[in-house]
Amino acid sequence: MPVRKVVTYGHPVLKKVSSDITDFSDIESFIQDLFDTMYEFDGIGLAANQLGVDKRIFVVDISHMEESDADSDKPLVFINGRVENPSGSCVDSEGCLSLPGIRINVERYESIQYSYLDKNLNKCSKIFSGLLARVIQHENDHLDGKIITDYATPSDLLEYKTHLETMRLENS
Ligand SMILES: [Zn+2]
Repeated sequence: MPVRKVVTYGHPVLKKVSSDITDFSDIESFIQDLFDTMYEFDGIGLAANQLGVDKRIFVVDISHMEESDADSDKPLVFINGRVENPSGSCVDSEGCLSLPGIRINVERYESIQYSYLDKNLNKCSKIFSGLLARVIQHENDHLDGKIITDYATPSDLLEYKTHLETMRLENS
């Protein structure tokens, strides 16, 4: 399965609110493309619109990370998901495959319940915390047309001004 091009900052698809998937006929090959592309670029999560497809699906794999535990020790697929019952908050630095070279401190809920379909299209609703909760919120943001620069402070934007401008021009 092919590694696909990752859409970068400034591309309009990253600002689009993605729609729920209703036709699941090509889902398996698309999931494989998401994983292949995520692993190729050393990501821990990748959303469909980062491949230019505005559908509510993303993949996550934090199994190689220090904070990984038994529950998260496998590649995960989240389809048509929604965040529910958020609680707590914590701030940490995040990167994004659509914003290479950029790190932004982002405040996230410490724990969330996430309702979604898994890769076998089974309905799931699970509580996530720690790094997994953070990655799911980051990817779910993508599906809502939101990226980490939306959390940037004025000094972040100043620091990355040239870099962001270059990417924006490449996508215009
Ligand atoms: Zn991202």
